[in-house]
Amino acid sequence: MSIRKVALVTGASKGIGKAIAIELSENNANVIVNYNRDEKESIEVVEEIKKNGVEGIAVKADVSSFEQCASMIEFVKRRFGCLDILVNNAGALADKTLKNMTKEQWDRVMRTNLDGTFNVTKNALTIMRDNGRIINISSIAGVLGNFGQTNYAASKAGVIGFTKSLARELGKRRITVNAVAPGFIDTSMTKAIPFIRRKIILAMIPIGRAGTPFDIAGLVAFLASDKAGYITGEVIRIDGGLSY
Ligand code: NAP
Repeated sequence: MSIRKVALVTGASKGIGKAIAIELSENNANVIVNYNRDEKESIEVVEEIKKNGVEGIAVKADVSSFEQCASMIEFVKRRFGCLDILVNNAGALADKTLKNMTKEQWDRVMRTNLDGTFNVTKNALTIMRDNGRIINISSIAGVLGNFGQTNYAASKAGVIGFTKSLARELGKRRITVNAVAPGFIDTSMTKAIPFIRRKIILAMIPIGRAGTPFDIAGLVAFLASDKAGYITGEVIRIDGGLSY
């Protein structure tokens, strides 16, 4: 029997992170559910995870704070001793055209999405085992750009550069580092999109529907598995064909 792996998923209280956390627990990993504000929902995610016979625990940390990320990893070290799988999923939006974007909106998105990826990964590497897996959630906005998302697209493009560089640094330890770039996925993040705009986007998706968080979780679980040990430095779009 293989040793049970330890996985940390950031921003796992809802949406894509929640689905990833549950899917990894179904694949027999102990899962740390990171959240920032939503303690109640993260505890519900932990309850779901435990139904799969593995350990689950919710840990509060704002990924934009290096100190809070250091404390979170210290906690993981004390509780589990090491880390095998890291999914940098926590993310935020503050959409505005550049003309109307405030410095605060720029900074908030960059600090959460790009600094957050650095803050968690830098600390996590101190306890990551050889043969580990790092999966960063980018976005097709980071690949193609998007109207009204200069901050978001820049942060997600930054995540791609980070992924490709770190994959080169960690290859010798057989730690793979990949990015997943989702398209239009039904979560609280996309709920605010007006009905008409939503219809236009849906009409552009060959598969004919929005993605679900579990569409993304299936890919992440594969990249986290032993079967994906020869895939590194990749950016995998998962968007129902929206961007090809
Ligand atoms: P969501 O439903 O809004 O969930 C966002 C998650 O991130 C929540 O669990 C939230 O935790 C957490 N979070 C936000 N700021 C945080 C911080 N500073 N520290 C720690 N956690 C924080 O969003 P989602 O759609 O699932 O998005 C997940 C990831 O996929 C994001 O990186 C997003 O950019 C990316 N993505 C989404 C789509 C899409 O169409 N939905 C497309 C492409 C990429 P709390 O609620 O506890 O604050």
